[in-house]
Amino acid sequence: MILVSSCFAGLDVRYNGTNCLNDKISKLVEENKAITICPELLGGFSTPREPAEIIGGNGEDVLDGNAKVVDKSGKDVTQLYIKGAYSTLEQAIELNATLVVLKENSPSCGGSTIYNGEFTGKKIMGMGVTSALLKRNGLKVISEEQFADTLL
Ligand code: SF4
Repeated sequence: MILVSSCFAGLDVRYNGTNCLNDKISKLVEENKAITICPELLGGFSTPREPAEIIGGNGEDVLDGNAKVVDKSGKDVTQLYIKGAYSTLEQAIELNATLVVLKENSPSCGGSTIYNGEFTGKKIMGMGVTSALLKRNGLKVISEEQFADTLL
């Protein structure tokens, strides 16, 4: 089974109540070849919510206790991000996921780039918290750009 970020399937779960519809990924969900998942909702957030960014590092640093996730008002939401990451991992294992396609740039789902923690739109190299945890546990995680190049 393939696990994909819910926002790719047109579900309005992003922080601002929008989605990031991806036709190719959405088709997989319609054909029951993929299941949607939103780590932030699993962590306990609802939609809409304040945007959040990782401060002081990337998702791996958050997992190691060396960086935190903070929302735009300055509230520390690290534990919710970690909870969402572990819930996603549990579901991925339960579903025996062979591939996970996650949304680039998100503090949860980003696979190679995330925002830099200043809420200025600038990006840095690094994974989000959920991507980092899934990869640490041996799951194959790719972005929507990488998925576009697959033959699926
Ligand atoms: Fe999409 Fe991931 Fe953000 Fe949920 S946490 S809205 S699945 S990018």
